[in-house]
Amino acid sequence: MTQVNKTMVDVTAPGVKAQKGGVHPLTKELRRMENIFSSLGFEIADGPWIETEEINFDALNVPKNHPARDMQDTFWIKNLENTVLRTQTSDVQVRYMRNNKPPIRIVAPGRVFRNESTDARHEAEFHQMEGLMIGKNVSVANFKAVIEGFMRKYLEKSNLEIRTRPGYFPFVEPGFEIDVTCFGCGGSDKKCQLCSGTGWVEIIPGGIVHPKVLEAGGIDPKKYQGFAFGMGIERIIMAKYGIKDIRDFLNSNTEMIKQFN
Ligand SMILES: [Zn+2]
Repeated sequence: MTQVNKTMVDVTAPGVKAQKGGVHPLTKELRRMENIFSSLGFEIADGPWIETEEINFDALNVPKNHPARDMQDTFWIKNLENTVLRTQTSDVQVRYMRNNKPPIRIVAPGRVFRNESTDARHEAEFHQMEGLMIGKNVSVANFKAVIEGFMRKYLEKSNLEIRTRPGYFPFVEPGFEIDVTCFGCGGSDKKCQLCSGTGWVEIIPGGIVHPKVLEAGGIDPKKYQGFAFGMGIERIIMAKYGIKDIRDFLNSNTEMIKQFN
């Protein structure tokens, strides 16, 4: 029997193909969203993931007895009194208002945390894009124009329309739910899964910033007003591409991720 020379390299053997990397779909879509808001004159702002109870709840007019403050809904930090993993990117609103004077025009994308069990539509960790525009004459009309402009560009549908319905959120008054015309069927399919045949998709909650929130941010509500919104980033990407399970974003499933590169 001949001995195999272990140092010998078979130069005729096929090589191992290197896997090509790419940008994660969340990052890719987030950059697109940021670019659109930049083109609309919005600055990109950032904030910490670990936040004080005061900024995460009090300054945003969330009452002391609100269920969101419960241990079951929020991750409280052990050994650090009155500190949470932020439950929404609205904390950046407060931080920005305290350090800047109006006019303000920002979006704050980032990771948020909720202490809840996960399923196809819920994750304990997900991303939000907060928007805030404050000035002397900022109105609901500006709010609708910005959201409509953004959605038309992001979904590449120039005839897309929006509608507002009343909604309640402690940090805005009045509050709205914003729906866009169904980008799956355009409102023509009674069996459409995206809009359940209604022709509208609920996409962004928001409203006119509550005077108490402006005050907590050091802004005089008699002089200034504005709007704020908080959109779920995964939710919009899922609707756009027909992704059925939110957990696909964070579970390292390369089969899903590869489709975006
Ligand atoms: Zn539809």
